[in-house]
Amino acid sequence: MEKISVKIKKKLTLGLIVTLLCGIALICRLVYIELFDAGFLQPMAYEQQSRDRLISPVRGSILDRNNVGIAVSESVCSVSAVPVQVIQKEETAKELCQMLDLEYDDVIKKLSENVALVRIKSKIDIETAHEIRQKALPGINVDDDVKRVYPFKNLAAQVIGFAGRDNQGVTGLEAKYDEYLAGKPGKILTVTDSRGVKISDEQRRVPPQNGNNIVTTIDTTIQRYAEQTISKAVEAKEAKRGIIIVLNPQNGEIYAMANYPDFDLNEPFKINEPELESIWDTMTSKEKNDALNQMWRNTAINDTYEPGSTFKIITSSAGLEEKAVTVNDSFVCNGYYIAGDRQIKCWRYPRTHGHETFIQGVQNSCNPVFMAVAQRLGAEKFYDYMVKFGFKSKTGVDLPGEAVGIIHKLENIGPVELATMSFGQSFQITPLQLLRAASAIVNGGNLITPHFAKYVTDENGKVVHEFEYPLGEQIISKETSDTMRMILESVVSEGTGNKAYIPGFRLGGKTATSEKLPRRSGKYIASFMSFAPAENPQVMAIVLIDEPKGVYYGGTVAGPVMKELMSNILPYFGIEPIYNDTEKELDETKKAVVPYVTGLDIKEAKKLIDDAELTYVLNGEGNIVKSQFPPEGAEVNIKSSVIITVGE
Ligand SMILES: [Zn+2]
Repeated sequence: MEKISVKIKKKLTLGLIVTLLCGIALICRLVYIELFDAGFLQPMAYEQQSRDRLISPVRGSILDRNNVGIAVSESVCSVSAVPVQVIQKEETAKELCQMLDLEYDDVIKKLSENVALVRIKSKIDIETAHEIRQKALPGINVDDDVKRVYPFKNLAAQVIGFAGRDNQGVTGLEAKYDEYLAGKPGKILTVTDSRGVKISDEQRRVPPQNGNNIVTTIDTTIQRYAEQTISKAVEAKEAKRGIIIVLNPQNGEIYAMANYPDFDLNEPFKINEPELESIWDTMTSKEKNDALNQMWRNTAINDTYEPGSTFKIITSSAGLEEKAVTVNDSFVCNGYYIAGDRQIKCWRYPRTHGHETFIQGVQNSCNPVFMAVAQRLGAEKFYDYMVKFGFKSKTGVDLPGEAVGIIHKLENIGPVELATMSFGQSFQITPLQLLRAASAIVNGGNLITPHFAKYVTDENGKVVHEFEYPLGEQIISKETSDTMRMILESVVSEGTGNKAYIPGFRLGGKTATSEKLPRRSGKYIASFMSFAPAENPQVMAIVLIDEPKGVYYGGTVAGPVMKELMSNILPYFGIEPIYNDTEKELDETKKAVVPYVTGLDIKEAKKLIDDAELTYVLNGEGNIVKSQFPPEGAEVNIKSSVIITVGE
């Protein structure tokens, strides 16, 4: 008995030790799991317990200034499966493939996966969704979903941007205002056991919170005019690209920002260049990415360029403001100017401008005049004005990725740098920076914040937030601003900007021809900045044509483009032409009466417009004219455009 008990004792001791060791091992394992492995195990446990399906909120719309939807959400559905609940996998897979146009192998694989929930297909149309719902396939869920749609396709593509598969903003205003547009998803909670099998039919629905709308300053009609105009110019000049920006110089509201080439926002991953499209499958993913980023780029704000002669308006304003020059000061152009140890040419070299007043110097865009004014100001003051006019800071436009000017440091501005800077060379800015400074020059002297967002509205169109853009610092006096408007009007009526002259309208403006770097590569940017009416500017625009073939002078290339743009948009703004006696005699001022084409077949409408000696701009797709601008009976210049919006 004693022997036995010793044996038992030994066994018991051994057992105890083993148990203890096991216990310690278990505790260690538990501690390990708790401390180190939790990140891996917790989601699995979560996934096992909840079989939630998300309900997408409706993403808010991006609207133009007249509440026209540019980016809207359309109701669609998405199909998902809870694999453990699918009883007849093969049959279910076959049914789904047939209705959803999917590959059997892919679907059966998904239905066999060891996951709680698997997405079968997203963004399917309502009719197909209804068909699937009627079949009541066990384990297959059809949920309401929303899809982002851009009814105007390419309209303002680089500005609006697009939303991704999960309706999150990726670029442009879609990305910038995502927090307002997105909303919050809702949930359908289903009670299941640990294996994912539905315990009861009881479901709890947490409704989604829909996104708000952003009402912008964009006017789809002006945007359409701008796009039509710039695309025609880029094609005609076989240029690399083109930009038009139209804004209100008094308050910074941007009416249009057109980049051409553009792309269809409904297919943002489809490249727009035919050469790249043909080799797309052979490109690396990095190459594809770079090409797409290039296509999505908004050059009006993302890239800088050397402004050239349009910048002379800044030098002029600074000179007048500092009383370094007056309108009637006289200058002599010998075809060049001596700055430091260099002889810097006038664009007219070897010819000269001879004797000229300051105002004639601006009309002639004579480089020596501006070099002289900058020298009178001195580097420090000149630099000071560059800072004041906002070239060293962002304009504050509400779009992602805004670039800022690249400018010499003050200590590096010697006589040569100062001379070249006076006529817009040896530094880089964005087109929008130039337009912002030009706005201050003509609006009485105040900086503005160029912007797109006006209001946030809720689902019922009620304003829930108003964006504010207070008028910025006054950088030049009203008097200087008044003088500049007068000078710039004379540039269009009598000077280098005369190609943009429109009888009856008082336009101010300035041309530029910028040579791209490296110099003498034969690549140029032709541009034209303009505003109207000159006495009280309501509209300001810039046209840039990048690398035009053949003639590349700003006045010759961009001038007529500006003229076309302005002659279309000024009547739209209700700015009426006032003709003087000479203008009344011009062919150009002959009038045509807009015919009534709304409701007509497109062919018939085109013929009537043609017969009335007018042209048309087509908006949308379809065969029936839904609306027109200008309306029937309006008296307009012959050859001007009627915008016809068509539909089915
Ligand atoms: Zn000259």
